[in-house]
Amino acid sequence: MATTTFTKKSLGLETNEPAVTPPPAKGGQTNFAKKPKLGSGKSKKRDIPEGLWTKCPKCETMVFDKELDENLKVCPKCEYHFPVGARERIHSLVETCTFEEMDAEMTSVDPLKFVDKTPYPRRVQEHQTATNLKDAVLTGICKIGEHRVALGVMDLSFIAASLGSVVGEKLTRLIERATEKELPVIIISTSGGARMQEGMLSLMQMAKTSAALAYHAQRRLPYLSVLTHPTTAGVMASYASLGDLILAEPGAMIGFAGPRVIKDTTQAELPPGFQTAEFLLDHGLIDAIVPRKEMKQRFIQYLDFLNNRLKVATATSA
Ligand SMILES: [Zn+2]
Repeated sequence: MATTTFTKKSLGLETNEPAVTPPPAKGGQTNFAKKPKLGSGKSKKRDIPEGLWTKCPKCETMVFDKELDENLKVCPKCEYHFPVGARERIHSLVETCTFEEMDAEMTSVDPLKFVDKTPYPRRVQEHQTATNLKDAVLTGICKIGEHRVALGVMDLSFIAASLGSVVGEKLTRLIERATEKELPVIIISTSGGARMQEGMLSLMQMAKTSAALAYHAQRRLPYLSVLTHPTTAGVMASYASLGDLILAEPGAMIGFAGPRVIKDTTQAELPPGFQTAEFLLDHGLIDAIVPRKEMKQRFIQYLDFLNNRLKVATATSA
């Protein structure tokens, strides 16, 4: 019990002890039940619970998480668009209870028995547990305003929303269903690139999704592609850049290879704002930049417009 005495002495608490602590038990032993509270200085830190505030990477303001959620994950000070999960995004866009998910249980296999730092099946499993998603895209038929729409939304938190065979297959089935039911397609993309753990099978998804969109286009049905931060590589080189209308969120990084790779390859200085949505709008690659809060309304406007055009076209060709 010598240690107890030592601790109290070292903290300078022993002088006040007798008044609040019962007298030591026989043999000079301390009653541990009445140990004084230590380290009261810590409570200041605990007044601000962790995870309630997020620092905006653009303006460095501390934003209250609840405020951020209510603002659709957009910084209220500088309009920086934080990444947003697929479920959250669907919730903000579609009419309540209208989203009928397709292929909800589809999950990756491991054709190459691929192992990097962890075996591929374990990596998939870990992301499934962490994100509560089966893979990096959610697809389904829903209503946006009065329009029935085939909607696909990618989620960056699942292996950087890489384009693997599940993402490709789910989107292809979505597009094919839309073609069959004569529905417009909206795909909200974000991606770090191809799912390298699936090798060639991952690259095949670019051709497969593009072919499905070609059949959809042959039927003169609209496809809206939305590019969010970041949309790169295989996704940008296939379905994300094939929209009849290509929209982007403000400040989104959009490109094929990253700026460093391009700079190293071309040995040229890149222009300011290179690969941002704003730069691409100026250069004609995308049609409009739409803030997240206006996205739903803009979808409705565009679909109204495209549907009316379609009706007129069908009527005149008949
Ligand atoms: Zn900000």
